[in-house]
Amino acid sequence: MDIYSTLTRSKENFETINENRVNLFVCGPTVYDDAHIGHGRTYISFDTIKRYLEYKGYAVFYIQNVTDVDDKIINRSKESGIPANVLARKFEKRYREDMEKLNVTGVNLFARATDHMPEIIDQIQRLIDKGFAYETEDGVYFEIDTFEEFGKLSNRNVEELESHREIAETTKKNQQDFALWKKREGVNEPVWPSPWGDGRPGWHIEDTAITEYYFGEQYDVHGGGLDLIFPHHEAEITQMEAVSGKSPMVRYWLHTGFLNVNGEKMSKSLHNFITIRELLESYEPDTFRFFVLSTHYRSPIDFSKDSLHQSEKSLDRIRKFYELLDVEVTEDINSDYEVLAKWSKEFFDSMDDDFNTPKAIAALFGLINDSKNELDNLSAEDKIAIKAFLDDASHILGVNFELEEVNAGSDDLLEVISEVRSELRANKQYDLSDKIRDDLQSLGYEIND
Ligand SMILES: [Zn+2]
Repeated sequence: MDIYSTLTRSKENFETINENRVNLFVCGPTVYDDAHIGHGRTYISFDTIKRYLEYKGYAVFYIQNVTDVDDKIINRSKESGIPANVLARKFEKRYREDMEKLNVTGVNLFARATDHMPEIIDQIQRLIDKGFAYETEDGVYFEIDTFEEFGKLSNRNVEELESHREIAETTKKNQQDFALWKKREGVNEPVWPSPWGDGRPGWHIEDTAITEYYFGEQYDVHGGGLDLIFPHHEAEITQMEAVSGKSPMVRYWLHTGFLNVNGEKMSKSLHNFITIRELLESYEPDTFRFFVLSTHYRSPIDFSKDSLHQSEKSLDRIRKFYELLDVEVTEDINSDYEVLAKWSKEFFDSMDDDFNTPKAIAALFGLINDSKNELDNLSAEDKIAIKAFLDDASHILGVNFELEEVNAGSDDLLEVISEVRSELRANKQYDLSDKIRDDLQSLGYEIND
């Protein structure tokens, strides 16, 4: 299996540190607002990657951090009057509900920054002890000049750090130095005690404190959105490799591409900002998931009504085909149906090639097109094999291929109608009850009195 790493800018053969085990970390949400569809794209992608690694036989441990102390949370708390910790818990809960709806179920551990203060403080202390960080009157900073390799992930230089967040009038030695700890500024902000007085951690340090605690100094895969490469991931490498003296901190850096809306960057000022909750008012979660996976995770993706509609239709084609396979999948599968062998190989080869889901999905349509007209002539064994393959594909993509479950609501409706009809018959209102029967029959439902 080959995986593209941002660090080397090339596809590399996937080799884990511990045989058959993968430690996976993905930057989680800053919980001050509802997650938007760009977040949905990133987390669906990594959920699918985890599903595929598990399908390949790896034991994967997947951690996401939850940034529950941050300037954005504090600012939102001041605007709304809701205490910062209450606000953070509220949006964390809503985030996890959203992810569950999108069938993003693979995260093994959500690690909150505020639950890891001892680890954060300990890592900062070691950076100071080793001469990489220094304390000033308003905080503790990493001294960029002490770490030669800064910029190796993003291929950028330190000057560019100046234009990024966390930069204000400070007491830093160099403008590029970034905050590890911020000392208390006002009264109404969350603070924790530390050797440098009350304060709170900088954003970058929470990730490396968390991953060092659970995974150790080096691990297999780190993921996140493309926008996090600089300065966030660059700072992570700097902190961890400085403190451990070991390189690389992470073997494979995976980044998801941007999500645009109708060709434009999503932003509140352009009024094209869509939360996952808003999306799910109009679309089935599977439709969005299928839409996301129809583009490679590293490529930009353009969200529009048309493209969602297209995904809806494509997914429906798979479901209708699946419905035609009127067999039960059994334990041992015995088929040498060539069309299936060809397209299932194409599916798995594509997934092995840096998780190329659009090519893998195209292989499903290859299978459907080439076997649809032959179904009546296929043996039960062959149909079972096709169905078993589609079940695997459905599980890997995290998208349901069964029609019935989608229409689950209509079963309840039918029950209500048939109860009404029974009552009508009991009251001898046969005209009406017969009309309901005839209408239902014309829709394809059979009524047995
Ligand atoms: Zn992060």
